[in-house]
Amino acid sequence: MAGQPIFILKEGSKRTRGRDAQSNNIMAAKAVAEAVRTTLGPKGMDKMLVDSMGDVVITNDGATILKEMDIEHPAAKMVVEVAKTQDDEVGDGTTSAAVVAGELLKKAEDLIEQEIHPTIIASGYRLAAEKAIEVLNSLAMSVDMSNRNLLVSIAETAMTGKGAEASKRLLSEIAVDAVTSVVDTNEKKKTVDRDNISVVKKVGGRVEDSELIKGMIIDKERIHANMPEKVKDAKLLLLNAAIELKDTEVDAEISITSPDQLQSFLDQEEQMLKKIVQKVIGSGANVVFCQKGIEDLAQHYLAKAGIFAIRRVKKSDMEKLARATGGKLITNMDEVTPEDLGYAGLVEEKKVGGDNMTFVTGCNNPKAVTILLRGGTEHVVDSITSALEDALRVVGVAIEDEKLVAGGGSPEVEVALRLQEYAATLEGREQLAVKAYAEALEVIPRTLAENAGLDPIDMLMELRSQHEKGMKTAGLDVYEGKVVDMWKNFVVEPLRVKTQVINAATESAVMILRIDDIIASTRAAPGPEEMGGMPPGMGGMPPGMGGMPPGMM
Ligand code: ADP
Ligand code: MG
Repeated sequence: MAGQPIFILKEGSKRTRGRDAQSNNIMAAKAVAEAVRTTLGPKGMDKMLVDSMGDVVITNDGATILKEMDIEHPAAKMVVEVAKTQDDEVGDGTTSAAVVAGELLKKAEDLIEQEIHPTIIASGYRLAAEKAIEVLNSLAMSVDMSNRNLLVSIAETAMTGKGAEASKRLLSEIAVDAVTSVVDTNEKKKTVDRDNISVVKKVGGRVEDSELIKGMIIDKERIHANMPEKVKDAKLLLLNAAIELKDTEVDAEISITSPDQLQSFLDQEEQMLKKIVQKVIGSGANVVFCQKGIEDLAQHYLAKAGIFAIRRVKKSDMEKLARATGGKLITNMDEVTPEDLGYAGLVEEKKVGGDNMTFVTGCNNPKAVTILLRGGTEHVVDSITSALEDALRVVGVAIEDEKLVAGGGSPEVEVALRLQEYAATLEGREQLAVKAYAEALEVIPRTLAENAGLDPIDMLMELRSQHEKGMKTAGLDVYEGKVVDMWKNFVVEPLRVKTQVINAATESAVMILRIDDIIASTRAAPGPEEMGGMPPGMGGMPPGMGGMPPGMM
């Protein structure tokens, strides 16, 4: 076999190794970070994303942009993952995480060029991240979260620059009221279950018409005009079965020879339906929420009995209704007992933006709340929804942890300074990696300045000098173009958002750095005519690959 190349990979597989592999990955990851960079901060711009179906999404949210972008490069996908993890963990800081990850890799590239081995960079980055978390913790202020104004500030910071600008205050207040009404306190530890808060979007009206409902809203109207519009002291039957006559399983043919017979057949059917409705009435329910259909005739009987009913309620809504009202989801009408019914103080049909919706309030479980979001167009509603989503999550995190840091680039500048000092205490090449890490973090204040049309170098110099003087919360007032105390400007964020940025960005940068070999197989199998050129198979190949393909000898 001397001189003959050995192929261990299927034809069409691509392999990139060493420096090439690294620079290829780093380039892709940087490109992703670059793509979201301009959206960072209060003055960040929006992106318009058009999918293959022509649907348009306008957003400023890092996680959403990256999710919609349909990225293929494997290393780029890892940066997308960073934003996604950030979103899952804390719901905010997604752009920051992707931007920091990209910058860490960019700095690493410079170090690799100086012949510093990627594993050294990786371990230096890990050290730096550990130190950064330590510094962040020391910067954090413990705060009493019964301070509503503070919570509103947190919500506002999260919502800033997200297309909800005009009604930021109102939406922040709604978010805070929603979250504070679902807080669980267990042995002094507070937890917030985001699932207790539903968000219902309704196009039409103004954003200012948005409101918090202590209860649930179902986007359905009652099925019969003769049903009451309002039921007080509602006993709800949550039915996961149709109120219809079942179709016979086999095609049955009924021969009818006289009009009398037809009438008696129809009567019989009516009786059967009546029986089902009787069971509903007998259960003591005065409200029926049905996940399936309700036949016309049954609707009529229910209306006659003064029952409020809606049908084809979404499964997710049924589950939430069960939680909110304490009712059980019923699949078999024969087994209903009065204890299975849910309770709500009021079930009411109301007109919202031209459509009727059903409001369920005064529920058994007061921890079920709904935010009704309004806005002129679908895109407006969508963009305030995603801004509100961020706010709900950060307010929850803040209540759970009770630890805040200032925003506006201030923690990043402070951590960078402390890291520079820390680097000086290290020996060898890791020192360079820690320094690089410190510089990478400054990408946040730098980008905030750039996006606001300010001079990033001037701003960064000013920030550093304020921090060196001991002003640990000095950040960038992007509206005035000045360095100010961010606490005084009420720009505050939960500590966890920042620590998660450090963790997620470092993890992915390190992972990408440690790759020195990319082996990519092609998905499409080669056609028979291409088989002639196949290299001989090697041992350990899947069955069928071991032998020589025809035409090789
Ligand atoms: P992310 O997805 O990372 O949260 P954002 O576009 O929400 O991205 O921008 C977050 C950054 O903007 C944070 O660094 C935050 O401190 C900063 N920021 C938010 N509001 C203000 C403000 N009013 N002034 C200065 N910086 C702000
Ligand atoms: Mg944000």
